[in-house]
Amino acid sequence: MTYEHSYAHSISEPVSFWQAQAEQLAWQRKPTVTLQQNADGTHRWFADGRLNSCYLALDHQIEQGRGEQLALIYDSPVTGVQQTFTYHQLRDEVARLAGLLRSLGVRKGDGVIIYMPMVPQAAMAMLACARIGAVHSVVFGGFAANELALRIEDARPTLLLTASCGLEFDRVIEYKPLVDRALQLARHQPRHVLVLQRPLVSAELQPGRDLDWQQALLGAAPVAPVELDAGDPLYIMYTSGTTGKPKGIVRENGGNAVALCYAMRHVYGMRAGDVWWGISDVGWVVGHSLIVYGPLMNGCTTVFYEGKPIRTPDASAYWRVVEQYQVNGLFCAPTAMRAIRKEDPEGALIRRHNLDSLRQLFLAGEKLDSSTHEWLERVTGKPVHDHWWQTETGWPVTAPCVGLEGSAARPGSSNRAVPGYNVQVLDDEGKPLGPNQQGAIVIALPLPPGCSQTLWGDHQRYLQAYLQSYPGYYHTGDGGYLDEDGFVYIMGRTDDVINVSGHRLSTGEMEDLVARHPAVAECAVIGVHDEIKGQVPLALVVLKDGQGIGEAQLQGELVADVREQIGALACFNRVRLVKRLPKTRSGKILRAVLRKIADGQDYTAPSTLDDPAVLGEIEGVLADLPRAG
Ligand code: AMP
Repeated sequence: MTYEHSYAHSISEPVSFWQAQAEQLAWQRKPTVTLQQNADGTHRWFADGRLNSCYLALDHQIEQGRGEQLALIYDSPVTGVQQTFTYHQLRDEVARLAGLLRSLGVRKGDGVIIYMPMVPQAAMAMLACARIGAVHSVVFGGFAANELALRIEDARPTLLLTASCGLEFDRVIEYKPLVDRALQLARHQPRHVLVLQRPLVSAELQPGRDLDWQQALLGAAPVAPVELDAGDPLYIMYTSGTTGKPKGIVRENGGNAVALCYAMRHVYGMRAGDVWWGISDVGWVVGHSLIVYGPLMNGCTTVFYEGKPIRTPDASAYWRVVEQYQVNGLFCAPTAMRAIRKEDPEGALIRRHNLDSLRQLFLAGEKLDSSTHEWLERVTGKPVHDHWWQTETGWPVTAPCVGLEGSAARPGSSNRAVPGYNVQVLDDEGKPLGPNQQGAIVIALPLPPGCSQTLWGDHQRYLQAYLQSYPGYYHTGDGGYLDEDGFVYIMGRTDDVINVSGHRLSTGEMEDLVARHPAVAECAVIGVHDEIKGQVPLALVVLKDGQGIGEAQLQGELVADVREQIGALACFNRVRLVKRLPKTRSGKILRAVLRKIADGQDYTAPSTLDDPAVLGEIEGVLADLPRAG
């Protein structure tokens, strides 16, 4: 099947396209209705189908003869533990945990919060919920207590699962005091808190409410997967917003299973028996789609890594894992690769490892700057692919579909729309724009299976946030353009487009140029207020280790580069060196906060911020900027 053929089919006849994909799934009852459109623009996929996501991920794989194959490899350089689970072993663990959850009063449709580090029990907890039809909501471990409280309030869990601690490099983060504090803040209270005691820290348990995970499990009996409607929610995932109430993205069982089986095979080119490594955390959407459900539903072995790209113990950590487990494909965020490059610019550590098993690397989460892209291809000798998606979609919107014939990749682009996604670009009035014209990136409805169709407990907010800006389209919030061949270029959130003397310019494009400078490890370009021009760009730059270039010289060189490549109209003339950039815990640069600091406006440090101390550093560096008003 070629990419062109599949894509055309998926857009002209979505019903027959997705019906054929759904045929390949082991439903408990096959759907007879493929697509139902609702009056408000949302839709239901596979409405009368019945299935169980945990069954597809575990029991069905065993029935296919994969019981003794490794399902999950846990590698934890922070604790020194390496552990494997076959499909049989994982299924047995999950079935017993599901039995325990049920005995603690968790019923189909109930919310369950999982606030855990990257230990296999986190994946088991997700799958155990799926087995009995409970709706899990994984909250990234170590999120502050008030963030956890907000999610508890919204998801109203019957049960909260946690561990005594997580590890950040060699720093131990005790989770239980954070959970206790969150439960003091939240009005809603779960019936029980199940606590996994890790060897490093023994958490104090509150009698009656808190239970020791391992002890409680001793008396638990395994349970079978229940039958669920395709539209029943599998999980809620809160997006990493910077302010306000988090948005609870809801993922349905049916659409998710069909979409992930399609994506693993056709986008990522993975086959049953392959080893796949989704380098992320169960607290993010990637952890759901590409660490747990996607690889397991496709009979792959998933690598479950509790470590970092660097300092666990060094910048060779990823390559060690690839070689040790013969990883065939991986996903990671650009920020991780930039961290590795900063410490190992020549790839000396990479050359110590045999990467023969690896077929390609997929990167997403933010724009893959061309400098990092070229470097990564050069030092690994493997194809590196940028691809683009969102928590809301749950699986790639644009990507090279390496599992389809005729799939092409174009560096600099996040590649063409994946079958199922009708990606277009609109101007402010909602009129379609032609090739190479920059505007709002949207997806014509219907969205393919797997994409969220509502927010937990707030359908109106979903309609308002995603469907009302451009009737007939899903609004991604990203800006960019398509070239004449349909390759998509994401230039960042539409808020990251700046207006310099009436010219709309992309800070993403400038970042790409700045990142090409040999001394630059990473950078952020933001628009700051200017009395005359409205906004002007400002670049904040982190240097590679061992670079001695001064700020003035770097500024001179970068100004010349931007002038030559983008033009003097960009008014790019300010560069500041910083030690590090403020990022969310998932590695996205917090440009909105940088803008506020640069403009001297009040701001609240977002609770998603990785390390609040960085804001003080940035304030110091930018203290002398001319202020608005
Ligand atoms: P999240 O839902 O937290 O995964 O964030 C999704 C957002 O990350 C997208 O809407 C984009 O703004 C950004 N993003 C993800 N992947 C890419 C990419 N390959 N290129 C540019 N931006 C990306």
